[in-house]
Amino acid sequence: MQYKKDTIVAIATASSGIGGGIAIIRISGDNALYIAQKIAKPAINSANSAKSTNFTHSANTTKSTKNTSNLSKSIITASNENNTDSAKSTTNTSNANSAKSTKEFSLDFAPRYATLCNIYDKDEILLDEAIIIYYKAPHSYTCEDIIEVQCHASDIIAQKVLDSCLHYGARLARGGEFTKRAFLNGRIDLSQANAISQMIATKDAFLQTALIAQLKGSLGDFVREVREVLLLAIASAEMMIDYSEEDIASDFIEGIKINLKSLQTRLSKIYDFSTTRAKIGNAWKLAIIGKPNVGKSSLLNAILLEERAITSNIAGTTRDSIEEEILIDGSIIRLIDTAGIRSSNDAIESKGIERSLQAIREANIILAVFDSSNALNSEDKEVIEILSANKSDKKILAILNKSDCKNALSSANVERIKSICKDMLKISALKVEQTARIMHDKLKEIINQSNLKGEIILSAPYQLESIKSSIAHLDLALGRLKEGELELFAYHIKDTLESIGQITSPYTNEEMLDKMFSEFCLGK
Ligand code: GDP
Repeated sequence: MQYKKDTIVAIATASSGIGGGIAIIRISGDNALYIAQKIAKPAINSANSAKSTNFTHSANTTKSTKNTSNLSKSIITASNENNTDSAKSTTNTSNANSAKSTKEFSLDFAPRYATLCNIYDKDEILLDEAIIIYYKAPHSYTCEDIIEVQCHASDIIAQKVLDSCLHYGARLARGGEFTKRAFLNGRIDLSQANAISQMIATKDAFLQTALIAQLKGSLGDFVREVREVLLLAIASAEMMIDYSEEDIASDFIEGIKINLKSLQTRLSKIYDFSTTRAKIGNAWKLAIIGKPNVGKSSLLNAILLEERAITSNIAGTTRDSIEEEILIDGSIIRLIDTAGIRSSNDAIESKGIERSLQAIREANIILAVFDSSNALNSEDKEVIEILSANKSDKKILAILNKSDCKNALSSANVERIKSICKDMLKISALKVEQTARIMHDKLKEIINQSNLKGEIILSAPYQLESIKSSIAHLDLALGRLKEGELELFAYHIKDTLESIGQITSPYTNEEMLDKMFSEFCLGK
């Protein structure tokens, strides 16, 4: 797929509103170097710039580029490397030591060296002192010539530097356009491009680890592994077609079946896990439910270890939902304390109950709270009914609260709760620290059980579609193998091969690519 090779520019760093010391303006395309030479002139006194300039960037080392481990190092490289073109330029200029003469000087940026420059707008007004790094094609993110201008992290400065680049012929990049060029130039495949976009967006540590592995090619490895199993199955089928049934050892077909069945189990696990994760998104949603006065707000306070919700022994105090977030083992859990489930004539309370039901539908984890100091009543049974109707896809944990009081729950009722909830904890929410510890450990366990460790995860809709159809084709193939219809078996295995290949190399068209890359942030 071809694209118009104009030169694009964007501010590649997040807004300074979230802090940080550096803003990076990234230019990519044939004119990147020309534009850099137009906007940048050697910094005055640049031979001593590291010492003489009050360049506050050096305090922030984390945002520097791959090729310059920190900015202070970059400055020293730029000013001391006498054997590089860029350094020669800066040294020559410092001899001239005049602002006027520097403006006439065109910098000759050596690839992958950090050069300290003054950046000007179209009217030659000084905008900032900045570091410029030139990545010569094809050794850059996009495989094109790239210039990165590292200036002070001021939105105003970054915007003015951007405007100056636009003035000298660059075009404002669209969201994801740098990554799209990396893809179109063959540096990354679509699954890697997708991993980059998701990695920036995710707030979940587990997903982030899985996505960096995808960027390094784990999906490609997975597809290759699956293809090997499938190709072996086809080769075996073709061999069997050429031989009579008596010549084939009986355990030969059994061996193929076992391999393909275990492949199918693996693919199904990946599909189930990936769709569940897709529903969770950036945060697990946890709803605390139960009839009024069972201790939901007290439990929430204990989990948060603070008095967030007002507790009271008057039923129906928690009229609205309360939302808080906690971080457990790198995963965000959004806690929703819902109003007690109970039929009510009070308009505000009824609205709260409606929201509770909505929260239950949205939740991935439900804490169903019961008061163990009282026998179950019709309101508790209503809660059990609601849980029973919403239990698919959700982790439901029963909390038998008020364990400091005499137990009033019959074993039949406990069994009834267990049949819906599977997992059960006895606590006293009033023992705040103990409850906090028990709950944190339990939530950690739930999250860890749900994370498929060491396995790939698919995040793009087209990848989920590909694996779903691979599973379906494989199912058809196994059916044919069972019937001994080897030609049809091979045919369905070929379909499986095609579907699995689409995880990394889907059929693409301009519209699909535009849609996918437009979901990226600007500057990426
Ligand atoms: P909610 O309506 O379900 O949110 O219940 P609250 O958290 O407001 O608690 C209702 C009442 O039960 C309050 O008076 C709490 O102090 C009390 N309570 C909550 N948890 C416990 C517990 O573990 N033991 C005892 N004895 N009382 C509790």
